[in-house]
Amino acid sequence: MKSYQVSKKGYYGAFGGVFVPETLRPCVEQLRDSYLRIMKSKVFKDEFHRLLRDYVGRPTPLTPAKSLSERYGCRIYLKREDLNHTGAHKINNAIGQALIARHMGKRRIIAETGAGQHGVAAATVCALLGMECTVYMGKADMERQHANVQRMKMLGAKVVAAASGSMTLKDATNEAIDEWSSHPADTYYMIGSAVGPHPYPDMVARLQSVISKEIKKQLREHEGRDYPDYLIACIGGGSNAAGTIYHYIDDKRVQIVLAEAAGKGTDTPFSAATIHLGRPGVLHGAHTLVMQDDNGTVAEPYSISAGLDYPGIGPMHADLAMRHRTTVLAINDDEAVKAALALTRTEGIIPALESAHALGALDHLNFRPDDIAVLTVSGRGDKDMDTYLKHIE
Ligand SMILES: *Cc1c(COP(=O)(O)O)cnc(C)c1O
Repeated sequence: MKSYQVSKKGYYGAFGGVFVPETLRPCVEQLRDSYLRIMKSKVFKDEFHRLLRDYVGRPTPLTPAKSLSERYGCRIYLKREDLNHTGAHKINNAIGQALIARHMGKRRIIAETGAGQHGVAAATVCALLGMECTVYMGKADMERQHANVQRMKMLGAKVVAAASGSMTLKDATNEAIDEWSSHPADTYYMIGSAVGPHPYPDMVARLQSVISKEIKKQLREHEGRDYPDYLIACIGGGSNAAGTIYHYIDDKRVQIVLAEAAGKGTDTPFSAATIHLGRPGVLHGAHTLVMQDDNGTVAEPYSISAGLDYPGIGPMHADLAMRHRTTVLAINDDEAVKAALALTRTEGIIPALESAHALGALDHLNFRPDDIAVLTVSGRGDKDMDTYLKHIE
């Protein structure tokens, strides 16, 4: 059996590793040497699962989608991460990392955020656990996701505007890493996706793997077998996708289809489809695929969806795509908006713009009538209402 897990040195095939300034090396090594021990301890497991159940509201439902199933001629289920407390899958990871930080004796949390969902999740958990929280967010994202900025402020977090580059997620991440480098000893950097230096991608994937663990149990109840023919998820850095596929990676019966953001199209300068357009390079602490020009300057990405508007990709997903374990489709803005409207009008669920890209992938697949597909709705669309209404009128 092939294993797609991370190596001891922190690599997924050619991708991953630790590419950080010397000042951060001790922090990253301390985390690398403690995360598995902490995550496997009974104290951590008990508290993590108790909070996921009593605070987040897990397990999230696996909803049979009747209209979608009829339209696409197969059996489609939606994994409802939109129903988590705070409205997306990000809270699973935020709770896990906050508990890990506390076990390591760190009480000050910094985080980056794109759509604001990870920032809200971090601010929420910090309010719950009595920790200090600073969130870095691109200035452009603060404008298009202002409802989430207001939530973070009400929760007591400090929100710092990143005003460099395209003023989006990449720039917020740069500033968070700078801040971490200046205060390595007392600060815990809570990364919001399956990106960054080892052990972050593996740690985030493990914390999100509760999604596929639940899918197994719920599919058995609905269908009498614990695996689908297709798993479908959107992919920004890759955390909801990693959680959705985690327990199925080595199961070849399961086809994995991931949707990245094509923006206005992969043949235009306005795209965030890293797996289609990226080349190997180093971004935010890891060797991975990066959208860049011929001189290696990181490209300014574009997507209608702030959560997918990122020129990198988690190293695990770079490897899975290169080894053809996953099929990655580039879904453009218009396809995503159209798919979101269709879900809203036929199933009564308003998805996040990010999740809408996964829904947009359905049009590109040919299902057989007895196929079972599970699609993760990574978040709810409340934060995207302004954008939706602008495009739908
Ligand atoms: C952040 C976010 C994403 C993208 O991040 P991944 O790490 O790729 O999952 C997708 N959907 C929602 C709702 C988000 O908030």
